Amino acid sequence: MLHLEIGDLKKQSLREIWENAEMLKLLRNRENLKGKCGRCTYKYVCGGCRRAAYIFTGDLMGPDPYCWVEENEEDETAR
Ligand code: SF4
Repeated sequence: MLHLEIGDLKKQSLREIWENAEMLKLLRNRENLKGKCGRCTYKYVCGGCRRAAYIFTGDLMGPDPYCWVEENEEDETAR
């Protein structure tokens, strides 16, 4: 289980947390993805599983270890 605190609903509104939590800002910006996910042309429609990336790499923005797309596959679909 991944348990990361992003705010406190007893002290903040959901909207305030959604709009201002640094972790959510980080996750929404696909330019922050690293490794294979960062280089992938599908990153704006996929982005990979952030939970798996965190568990396997220790980095929320790291590559998704369960990705089945070959590293160069996106180059072939762009033709
Ligand atoms: S999980 Fe795979 S397909 Fe999705 S963004 Fe990462 S590398 Fe691309």
